[in-house]
Amino acid sequence: MSSRPVAAPVSRDPPPGLAILRQVFGYDRFRPPQEEVIGTLAAGDDALVLMPTGGGKSLCYQIPALLRPGTAIVVSPLISLMQDQVAALVQAGVNAAFLNSTLAPAEAREVLTRLHAGDLDLLYMAPERLLQEATLARLDEVPLSLFAIDEAHCVSQWGHDFRPEYLALSLLAERFPGVPRIALTATADTRTRREIIERLALQGARAFISSFDRPNIRYLIHQASGSPRNELLRFIREHHPGDAGIVYCLSRRRVEETAAWLCAQGLEALPYHAGLEASEREANQRRFLAEEGLIVVATIAFGMGIDKPNVRFVAHLNLPKSVEAYYQETGRAGRDGLPANAWMSYGLQDVITLRQMMAGSEADETHKRAEHARLEAMLGLCETTRCRRQALLDYFDETLAQPCGHCDTCLWPPETWDATEAAQKALSCIHRTGQRFGVNYLVDVLLGREDERIQRFGHDRISTFGIGQSLSAEQWRTLFRQLIAVGLIGVDIDGHGGLHLTEACRPVLRGERTLQLRRAPPARMRSARRSRAPVPVDQLTDPADRALWEALRALRLTLARAQEVPPYVVFHDASLAAMVAERPRTREALAGIPGLGAAKLAAYGEALLETIAAADAA
Ligand code: ADP
Ligand code: ZN
Repeated sequence: MSSRPVAAPVSRDPPPGLAILRQVFGYDRFRPPQEEVIGTLAAGDDALVLMPTGGGKSLCYQIPALLRPGTAIVVSPLISLMQDQVAALVQAGVNAAFLNSTLAPAEAREVLTRLHAGDLDLLYMAPERLLQEATLARLDEVPLSLFAIDEAHCVSQWGHDFRPEYLALSLLAERFPGVPRIALTATADTRTRREIIERLALQGARAFISSFDRPNIRYLIHQASGSPRNELLRFIREHHPGDAGIVYCLSRRRVEETAAWLCAQGLEALPYHAGLEASEREANQRRFLAEEGLIVVATIAFGMGIDKPNVRFVAHLNLPKSVEAYYQETGRAGRDGLPANAWMSYGLQDVITLRQMMAGSEADETHKRAEHARLEAMLGLCETTRCRRQALLDYFDETLAQPCGHCDTCLWPPETWDATEAAQKALSCIHRTGQRFGVNYLVDVLLGREDERIQRFGHDRISTFGIGQSLSAEQWRTLFRQLIAVGLIGVDIDGHGGLHLTEACRPVLRGERTLQLRRAPPARMRSARRSRAPVPVDQLTDPADRALWEALRALRLTLARAQEVPPYVVFHDASLAAMVAERPRTREALAGIPGLGAAKLAAYGEALLETIAAADAA
């Protein structure tokens, strides 16, 4: 054996992962940190990947699955997610399949036969299927390239998507010690991260933590004035005509009413909540995925399985319970990286309802305190006078150096006012009336209204009666909401909305602390500004470009229908937009379009070139 060092062979070929990225997926270069993650798994090591929605998590395990011998097992919590992913992989010419309850026994057997024959590069399944002894025994018999645990935050009891089945996934480390594992999530907080590492036994894994900034999302938060529904309608009509979007409400009834009302206004909206028949829920979800331009009005039950890349807006008609929930829900907008809006309207009643729900919950004290702290943080985000994006990232311990320049507070900096004196009046009014009345009553006392109840209780003779006439009833209501939001006032749990003072209000009452609060701007001003998301089609001013765009979309829909997959599984909007811009006339030129790998080129190249030629001839 020679002891001379051997020079590594000089190769002009791209590294193997890059070749697959180009050939199979049709993309030119990796996004950070895809290359490092792929290298880690290819070397047989474990990885933990935290990346925001739309960041490109899937390739982090799909490419190693193709690089390493054996089959990759992908654990995914939802059937619709698996189906979309597998459909997209099959479109790219990859040998992928799923095992779940939608398969007939014969189909499931065929998948297992392919597994044993070494014919599958990726096999998707739900955790409960994977953990069945029969499945594990089969996996013992075949070579495995890796385990990918998608939506890994489902192991965390702290989050809102907890799945008890995920806990048992820790056994993979012991049972398959030689097989590398990768856990992926878009949930950012450190506590969830710790739980994932602990519960999936990933202490030795390399962690890849990306920024959670979503620069293409514009955050717009405002307090409801008048009817939130009307504001929503105006927002959709002005900024999102014909766009796909999700509207979140807190209750099923509100979901039903809002969907019906939007339909009555001429929009296409479908309800989605846990109280609907499973078949109707599935049908609505399928339509949302398969069609363009539908709106789904939903409770938070809707969303985790939604991989639709071109959701152009997410609207909240209620306050989410936490910043995590807000980030996750708004994060469903703009996965394709194109501009999208996250719009929210919230009011006094939201704050009171959530406070009551939490105070009255059966959970133990620790849990309650945690819920409480999370709601505080959400309210803090609503009431902040800073850039929304900076405040949001702050919550995830990330620093955005400059204000984003396009959230509502950046665009329309809120005026603040010294609310100390008004707050003192409000607080002492609560005190003098015995800390048991709700907002409306207190406002009436402050304004000095003639009222039978006020007289009966003798509150027309207390010092705070009529001392608040410099503000309007609406301004007082806003102030009470803000004081509840900042924790100077507590809400009783009995459901009547009685307000009481908290410890924190003392320095304000004693004049030791001043209060600067947001002044509510008129809602009209906000929606009058343009924030229409420039989806590619909007940029097509040339009629010929527009015609080609429409022709390509029609072709995509035909191809998708023929194969019973959603249109975005065939091509993303970004691929179509690139074809319109570059008008490829040859296969070589077509190969340069992002998202067109070898398999799609072979299957659709002809039809695409014909469509482009026909549009040019017209
Ligand atoms: P996530 O699972 O993190 O939400 P996906 O894996 O679905 O994100 O990827 C989001 C989008 O980005 C997809 O359309 C995907 O094809 C695209 N994408 C991923 N990696 C790249 C890349 N290196 N270059 C270009 N596009 C990419
Ligand atoms: Zn901003």
